[in-house]
Amino acid sequence: MTVNTSIYQEFSAELSDIEIITDIDRVTKLSLDYYHFSPILQSQLNDKKANLVVRPTTEADVIRVAKAGVNYKIPLTVRGAGTGNYGQCIPLEAGIILDLSKMNQIKWLKPGIACVEPGVKMAAFDKQAREIGWELRMAPSTYRTATIGGFIGGGSVGMGSMNYGQIKDRGNLHRVRLVTMEEQPQILELTGDDVQQVIHGYGTTGIITELEIPLAPAYPWQEIIVVFDDFMTAAQFGQALSDSAGIVKKLVSIHSAPIPSYFTALQPYLTQGKHCALLMVSEYDVAPLKDLVTEYGGTFTYSKTAAEAAKGTSLLEFTWNHTTLHARNIDPSFTYLQTFYFTLERVEKMYQHFGDEIAIHLEFLKAGGKAVPGGLQLFRFTTEERLQEIIEYHEANGAFIANPHVYTIEDGGDKQIDKDKVAFKQKIDPYGLLNPGKMRGFTL
Ligand SMILES: Cc1cc2nc3c(=O)[nH]c(=O)nc-3n(C[C@H](O)[C@H](O)[C@H](O)COP(=O)(O)OP(=O)(O)OC[C@H]3O[C@@H](n4cnc5c(N)ncnc54)[C@H](O)[C@@H]3O)c2cc1C
Repeated sequence: MTVNTSIYQEFSAELSDIEIITDIDRVTKLSLDYYHFSPILQSQLNDKKANLVVRPTTEADVIRVAKAGVNYKIPLTVRGAGTGNYGQCIPLEAGIILDLSKMNQIKWLKPGIACVEPGVKMAAFDKQAREIGWELRMAPSTYRTATIGGFIGGGSVGMGSMNYGQIKDRGNLHRVRLVTMEEQPQILELTGDDVQQVIHGYGTTGIITELEIPLAPAYPWQEIIVVFDDFMTAAQFGQALSDSAGIVKKLVSIHSAPIPSYFTALQPYLTQGKHCALLMVSEYDVAPLKDLVTEYGGTFTYSKTAAEAAKGTSLLEFTWNHTTLHARNIDPSFTYLQTFYFTLERVEKMYQHFGDEIAIHLEFLKAGGKAVPGGLQLFRFTTEERLQEIIEYHEANGAFIANPHVYTIEDGGDKQIDKDKVAFKQKIDPYGLLNPGKMRGFTL
């Protein structure tokens, strides 16, 4: 899709009362995310850039942008905070970046439920929700910067998934309000199972302007590090803690050596060659946790109350994909996979099979009603062929890989075309202008 550049002048003139960014450096920066975690995506996406960035503050302005975009047939890619790690908001066909970070009002907040604009930052939201004893059910490790709209559009899991599973699990999103990309943009309200149309949709199935999200009871979360001599014992401890119904927790993150050595700021609490668990447990449940740690032969090396933890960097920022970030700060040749192992037997098999080539990082989460180990394992990238062999070996042994080295929705997640999503997109984006190229099943 190529667009005559003078069109952008007309487009900008029509919307001159909305903030529009044309400065090339800023546009370049706002066209990118954390795609560089993947060496494959690095070479595929590093020259992709929008023509300009539009930053509306109201739904009425979003409608005007969508209408003008359709009028001039300009591709439009929505952006929250741009922390996606596989190019979710990188415009493959240039056009407009619709930056919704300024649509950041909390519309209402009640015990158990809230209504927000998409640009609300997750940690900022929780600060207010905790005042009434509630918090987000789940959040990625980019919690401090990520937006709620971006998490719904491009994320999947995070702290809290231990209790509530993935975003796509029924009940984790109650309602969304969408602007369509039609000649006369419409506002749609999706509820019930219909919200699936936008979850992990990379902004290809409408522009979210409002979300109604269920909340979780907020606890004061104690942040804890436990060190283990043996990796599989640490993994078994992780499973036992995840299965301990009486211990309230929201993060169980297990790291095989040498990963702990990449956590520069945590070195006083870690031991060379040993394995560690990074945990968030209710302050009221630290005593039973200590008993569990004793049972598994671990050593408590770090324990901060919620108030103490709030003064420094949260352990969250060493878990989920922040682990990958820390490893890449030590050696940029590190890359990763996103894996559902489902069982510890499978974890052990992969641990023994790959030996030093792959360092295993587990995050426990709820899937199908059970706590299961997920993985964001680390390894140094050598060749595309070796990467493929690693993926295939995992899959042949029953693991599910959510491939972070591809940029289409289908290839990364479900591995198949979602006919309902494609049909929905055909209805609400008949010209295929929303983040073109990201939904493989959609053709004009
Ligand atoms: C270090 C690191 C750690 C991470 N950890 C996690 C993790 O623990 N769990 C996890 O799930 N992800 C993780 N991520 C990925 C990412 O940070 C999260 O998914 C985050 O929630 C994305 O929010 P964002 O505001 O940055 O979204 P963006 O990156 O701006 O957007 C993400 C996608 O959503 C679409 N989108 C944004 N806003 C809207 C809207 N209003 N309407 C429609 N579509 C929209 C965009 O087009 C894009 O396709 C991590 C990334 C990094 C770099």
